[in-house]
Amino acid sequence: MKFGTKVIHAALSPDEATGAVMTPIYQTSTFAQSEVGKHKGFEYSRTGNPTRKALEDNIAALENGIFGAAFGSGLAAIDCVIKMLKPGDEVISTNDLYGGSYRLFTTIFEQYGIQFHFVPMDDLDAVEACLNKRTKLIWVETPTNPTMQIIDIKGMAKISKKYNVILAVDNTFATPYLQRPLDLGADIVMHSATKYLGGHSDVVMGILVVRDADIAKEMYRIQNSSGAICGPMDSFLVLRGIKTLHLRMKAHCENGRKIAHYLENHPKVDNVYWPGLTTHKNHTIAKDQMDDFGGMISFSLKDDKEHTAINVLNRFKLFSLAESLGGVESLVGHPASMTHAAIPKAERIKSGVVDSLIRLSVGVEDAEDLIADLEQALR
Ligand SMILES: *Cc1c(COP(=O)(O)O)cnc(C)c1O
Repeated sequence: MKFGTKVIHAALSPDEATGAVMTPIYQTSTFAQSEVGKHKGFEYSRTGNPTRKALEDNIAALENGIFGAAFGSGLAAIDCVIKMLKPGDEVISTNDLYGGSYRLFTTIFEQYGIQFHFVPMDDLDAVEACLNKRTKLIWVETPTNPTMQIIDIKGMAKISKKYNVILAVDNTFATPYLQRPLDLGADIVMHSATKYLGGHSDVVMGILVVRDADIAKEMYRIQNSSGAICGPMDSFLVLRGIKTLHLRMKAHCENGRKIAHYLENHPKVDNVYWPGLTTHKNHTIAKDQMDDFGGMISFSLKDDKEHTAINVLNRFKLFSLAESLGGVESLVGHPASMTHAAIPKAERIKSGVVDSLIRLSVGVEDAEDLIADLEQALR
């Protein structure tokens, strides 16, 4: 099955009881047993729910994995991965990490004796230099937020195999439409399904997919034991979102391409960060491991002052000023004052998050209208 067929059909079939074409929302906490210990595969909805199971099986197929697990948020999914570790274990992660993941690692799990190292992961030698006997997990995010660095998943998988370390990839920005980390050698794929998988800015959810039976068993044990599951209604919404993932991603990529080129030629714009541009520093790796380049774009202004950027941000009419990304509607944000405000200024600027940096989550509206909005906001 090809991708566009898989999003609609993989691991899904009409409801056995009624023939309903759409997976029903099994809004129930428990399931009647015909005799003691005799049930139809479901006992209690934390342990398993048919709507959630349909979603977990579908996304596992899209990522070419064997097992999927869905959680109440992206961070709850990451929480499950780190709970596979023990005190004394070490994790290597990118220095350009999603802020919520950074907060989870440093303010929660460091207290439980797990040590985190943050390194520039587009330098594979820097990762290898950080490895030791206690290293148990490499946590990759690619593309990164907001400067769209691309990390070489295959190169990272070589290192993780050599040292027998688990490799996990946060695939939120790319989705399986653009990049399938398990095929490139990763052990775990993580999604904030809140973003492109849900796709309509109406649900918060996290997903994990794995390809190894032992990791799957451990992941399910933690999902069931810690209980950070998502509900049946949200599972339904994300299942429905995924049915148009290929159509939406195609439109996000086309709009992203048009807008990146428009910005590249704009006299007031300084740097444009979009992995599809040949000027992007990791373009070659992006071309190798991604099928297209997505709808996330950041750009800085030649007049690099915070108030100039804020003036531009306040003028947008079609792009909504908001956190989050990956929905059908276009959003705009100011990383320096929004998502990256907690990072010390010198460190922030060193990683490219300058005062005038503006981040776009390009939606699926008509590109002409989006460009007209950018034009009037930049004027
Ligand atoms: C949003 C996001 C998360 C966290 O997901 P939530 O659903 O908000 O908990 C993790 N990683 C990336 C890259 C994200 O964009």
